[in-house]
Amino acid sequence: MTQADVRFLVVEDEPTSAAIVKSVLETLGEVVLAADAAGALEALQAFVPDAILLDISLPDLDGHALLNRIRSLPNLEKVPVIFVTAKDAPADQIRGLDQGALDYLVKPIAPAVLHARMKHHLQRLAEERRVRRLADFDDLTGLHNRRRFLEGLAIELERARRYGRTLSFVAFDLDHFKSINDRHGHDVGDAVLQAVGKVLRKRLRNVDLSGRLGGEEFGILLPETGLDGARCVAEKLRADIAATQVGDPRSPVSATASFGIACLRAGDDSDSLRKRADEALYEAKDGGRNRVCGG
Ligand code: GH3
Ligand code: MG
Ligand code: MG
Ligand code: MG
Repeated sequence: MTQADVRFLVVEDEPTSAAIVKSVLETLGEVVLAADAAGALEALQAFVPDAILLDISLPDLDGHALLNRIRSLPNLEKVPVIFVTAKDAPADQIRGLDQGALDYLVKPIAPAVLHARMKHHLQRLAEERRVRRLADFDDLTGLHNRRRFLEGLAIELERARRYGRTLSFVAFDLDHFKSINDRHGHDVGDAVLQAVGKVLRKRLRNVDLSGRLGGEEFGILLPETGLDGARCVAEKLRADIAATQVGDPRSPVSATASFGIACLRAGDDSDSLRKRADEALYEAKDGGRNRVCGG
């Protein structure tokens, strides 16, 4: 996390305090100021800060209540919040920390101390993010790893079943990938896998989930998407992958993939859904590869 990436939201109604906090934080990142809870909630519609510094005595809503509101917003369930307040009673401090605030700082706070504490928090947050990335993502392709993908699949399946929504699962596997490695080397094979990751990230929507399930096998989950939509997505991915070239531009290497699709049926669990997609994938392999089957 470099300074250019860091953004803070400071919620403070007292102009002098706001100016001091702002000038300290500006040495660590970009600062957005809000003078009340309404202004804070409005600002949070536009961006997810790396940390929110929150006063408790605000003109419209107290800081504890505002924190509860923030926690209920999408993407903000875990945003780091630090109280900066004149309320120094132990009960207030305990309440703030019990609410899940990262820290509770009592005003007046020396600017140098605020700076030191924020620097410390940012370092810890950057480290936490790095570890989370390692736990959830595949290094080579940048896609979700198998564990994280299957977790997401289970959650989406539950949501679709509960609300009676549709959902499709697409499995695909690169064709004759062993011979790409054998003919061009493992590095070129790795470059093909990276290129596939890039195609998926570019082509899929934010709500779609994609992951590397194994060596050269991938999974895609398409919420709110029936068979026709899934076929359309898979067909585009198939064409994009076939058109991708890696390695030396004078003798570029390309790869194809075979796709299997399954749409959610009553009584499905993630195993049965994946099994149907795998069967369709075998059918695509048997049918000559570089094609989409299922449905
Ligand atoms: P098919 O069309 O039937 O899928 O043939 P295939 O050669 O793709 O199938 P197979 O399962 O026999 O081979 C998969 C190959 O993928 C073998 C393995 O060495 C390669 N592979 C798995 N993980 C990686 C990786 O991370 N990097 C590279 N370069 N190759 C990998
Ligand atoms: Mg105040
Ligand atoms: Mg395979
Ligand atoms: Mg293969």
